[in-house]
Amino acid sequence: MFQSLVRNFLIRRNLAALTPRAALVDMDGTLYDSMQNHATAWYQLMNELGVKCDRDEFFLYEGRTGRSTINLLFNRELGRDATPEEVEKYYHRKTELFNLLPPPGPMPGAAEILSLFKEVGMKIVLVTGSGQHSLIDRLTTDFPGIFTPDLMVTAADVTHGKPHPEPYIRAMQKAGVRPSMSIALENAPLGVESAIRAGVFTVAVTTGPIPRKAFEEVNASVIFNSMPEAARDMPTLLLAMLATRVDK
Ligand code: CA
Repeated sequence: MFQSLVRNFLIRRNLAALTPRAALVDMDGTLYDSMQNHATAWYQLMNELGVKCDRDEFFLYEGRTGRSTINLLFNRELGRDATPEEVEKYYHRKTELFNLLPPPGPMPGAAEILSLFKEVGMKIVLVTGSGQHSLIDRLTTDFPGIFTPDLMVTAADVTHGKPHPEPYIRAMQKAGVRPSMSIALENAPLGVESAIRAGVFTVAVTTGPIPRKAFEEVNASVIFNSMPEAARDMPTLLLAMLATRVDK
């Protein structure tokens, strides 16, 4: 089953084989069960500003930078971009609102997946559109021995957030790998789109209200229905990636 998915990816990318050496891992909704809090904080912020929105729409913007989300809402409801000063002020306020909520816990299965990547000798790179240090700073305590500051791509490292490929391209530069040597782990369609556009074999995990179909539409390489399911099947998937070749 995984071999045919790997084969489909190889044919689409015109590659002969994959040699996974780096895991490029998203944070919110993948490592932390934080998306409900993000949606709540965005919704509260926009209510404070009198900008009309729907609470669930913020799940669809997951992966965008704060500036991009603010501008999307501003353009739709107010017909203009936010000024740089407004972006700074409102993203700061959104972060305050987020930090008032109960701290989100690690996703079940996340530690197992990260340990597996580490055991097989892969580099692990964080790839997040977030600039919120309350979570980024917790990574080293919640996942000890996994993340190092030199292998992190955050909002501060990129000009363009997901779905632009830049975050994943920067991640591969930091790890010194090519797309054929990488695997991405994502929970949001925009994140999957970003990694796929960067040429990376991308594992999508549906951890929120977004239906499986949305991940098929952005050509996710493999789709799991939960992080524990992804943790259970990841060893088999890595073996399939190593074992599958396409003659060219
Ligand atoms: Ca995410």
